[in-house]
Amino acid sequence: MATKVPEIFGEYVFSDKVMRDKLPKDIYKALRKTIDNNTHLELDVANAVAVAMKEWAIEHGATHFTHWFQPLTGYTAEKHDSFISPTVCGDITMDFSGKELVKGEPDASSFPSGGIRATFEARGYTNWDPTSPAFIKDGTLCIPTAFCSYSGEALDKKTPLLRSMEAISTEAVKVLKLLGRDDVTGVSTTVGPEQEYFLIDEEDYKKRKDLIFTGRTLLGAMPPKGQEMDDHYFGALKPRVSEFMHDLDEELWKLGIPAKTKHNEVAPCQHELAPVFDTTNVAVDRNQLTMEVMKKVAKKHGYVCLLHEKPFAGINGSGKHNNWSITAGGENLLDPGKTPDENIQFLVFLMAVISAVDDYADLLRLSVASAGNDHRLGANEAPPAIISIFLGDELTAVLDSIENDTFFDKKGKVQMDIGAKVLPHFTKDTTDRNRTSPFAFTGNKFEFRSLGSSFSVAGPNTVLNTAVAEELSKFYEELKGVSKAKLPEAVHALIKKAIKAHKKVIFNGNGYTDEWVKEAEKRGLYNFRSTPEVLPRLVEKKNMKLFEKHKIYSETELKARYEIMLENYCKTLHIETLTMQDMIVKQFLPALMEYSDELVGSVLSKKSLSSSIKTGAEEKQAAELSDLYQKIYELNEKLAKDTKKAGTIADYQKQAEFYHGTVIPDMEKLRVVADEAELLLPDEFLPYPTYEQMLFYV
Ligand code: ADP
Ligand code: MG
Repeated sequence: MATKVPEIFGEYVFSDKVMRDKLPKDIYKALRKTIDNNTHLELDVANAVAVAMKEWAIEHGATHFTHWFQPLTGYTAEKHDSFISPTVCGDITMDFSGKELVKGEPDASSFPSGGIRATFEARGYTNWDPTSPAFIKDGTLCIPTAFCSYSGEALDKKTPLLRSMEAISTEAVKVLKLLGRDDVTGVSTTVGPEQEYFLIDEEDYKKRKDLIFTGRTLLGAMPPKGQEMDDHYFGALKPRVSEFMHDLDEELWKLGIPAKTKHNEVAPCQHELAPVFDTTNVAVDRNQLTMEVMKKVAKKHGYVCLLHEKPFAGINGSGKHNNWSITAGGENLLDPGKTPDENIQFLVFLMAVISAVDDYADLLRLSVASAGNDHRLGANEAPPAIISIFLGDELTAVLDSIENDTFFDKKGKVQMDIGAKVLPHFTKDTTDRNRTSPFAFTGNKFEFRSLGSSFSVAGPNTVLNTAVAEELSKFYEELKGVSKAKLPEAVHALIKKAIKAHKKVIFNGNGYTDEWVKEAEKRGLYNFRSTPEVLPRLVEKKNMKLFEKHKIYSETELKARYEIMLENYCKTLHIETLTMQDMIVKQFLPALMEYSDELVGSVLSKKSLSSSIKTGAEEKQAAELSDLYQKIYELNEKLAKDTKKAGTIADYQKQAEFYHGTVIPDMEKLRVVADEAELLLPDEFLPYPTYEQMLFYV
């Protein structure tokens, strides 16, 4: 039976509409004020909201509530409490107070804190974020919250994100006021994250320790066919996949997540889902929820959903495209617009973004750094590790003409008079697509494409918002003393200056080429090839200053995050190397041995029958396998030795560098030989499925 989408959409969300229906008018108004203007929420309002929320939740089958938060593990966390409250008569009532809604006190001792939360003070606080709607998941009312330590330091991804949204709003409003926009009291950033993922059969997954423990395959030879035919991209959906997607859409819609686009991706078994964009904070929460629902629905269909950045070597990995823009009451500030005045405003914001990406390219790169994503960035399937901006020819020409005081000539039709009186009317450019750029202007938004598929989008957006806030604040400082009459000229000069200073970050060509790497170096752009290389930038002076100035992170918070990211990197690699050794010793070498034995056995029995039966082929095969067996054994020994050594390095930065410089190359070398041996091995000797079985039989 066809689903009636409008009927189920948002069924499990305590949405604005539900609040309007369920809350007394004055309470609704007070809550709306808190949500829209970030004002303090009085306890009596919280109490009234709690009652309405509880009643609505119970009506929808909920028995528990939880403060849903995003600790620095990168996942979401929840601790469920039931609504029940025993009475003296021995029965129960269902209770939920304003205090319980607003604040929680989970034990924080087992979440990463980077040394902030001393173990004797295990308490952490969760605080309700009323700007992101509560929802029901598996019979539990989930209340989006921020998570901080007893002393008030952020221990999560939401708090800094909210702070960065406030910062960009404050700075943008100041600049807009100067430009005569007294009507704007706040801006927000918007995000639409396109999510890539793989689906493989659960039965296959269960047999692979590497997938179970690390999310990616550590061994596995390429099948005769990979993705070279490009026959999967946008291909017709297989019925079972289609059923999964249908179910997924429905589950997401019920949670109020506007899932919109779905299609097959480049690699076999790879797919993508994109929702309609939301306010950044809500988009972050919903993307976390989307990833969770994807995994859950996949299980229901006998699949496992892989969100690792690079589950299969030699096959495209999965990323997440972070579409981002700035909006003032529904007006997209990155829309080129139609009238000259709007264009001035557009150019100011465009230049703020370009300047931000140039000045804080290191932070943007850092915001997408992880052990998993290191396999993609710069590997010619995802953008290079060099952060640059694709603007398209038309917009680049406009900036050129401003910089050089020349006329902008759009097919000989539009001319631009310098002095910012008449600026050209740009049209939304959808033809000019460049998939190799990490940061592309796509008509009325920027698309940051370097994110890994498993990432929370909170981190990259925190950096983006803060960096743009900083450039806007610099613009404001430069313009604030200028008289109204002189303003257009001053704005024009400012734009021109910004173009001159930052045009080096603009690159419209093919980012996958070696020439670009050389050219970028000449331009003085950063090229951080690995996570350990870029992580120290988090506590670099310029960057600490930025975050402290806009009150996004304190020094303590930054140092803690740096430590956590390093630790995460080292732990990830530690698990990977141990898993690889385990598979080699307990599965792969025994399989090789078994087949060798079979070959040798065949040689011996043939020889015992008659000396005239030929055994040359088996002997050759056995010799080849024996040779590979020795090599694999030795390479594995070296990997084990280096893994132990890594564990003895106390300094996390040095340990991370050792993993990157020594352990990863060890693993790569071992894999090459093992994969070579796998190609000589009949499939049935392996206790786990091959690439071929996983990728092509789904
Ligand atoms: P693509 O062609 O890049 O694959 P998709 O349609 O898959 O495009 O995804 C584009 C994403 O950009 C969607 O999530 C869409 O909602 C989002 N988007 C569109 N406009 C904006 C905006 N102003 N701010 C943020 N995201 C936006
Ligand atoms: Mg897309």
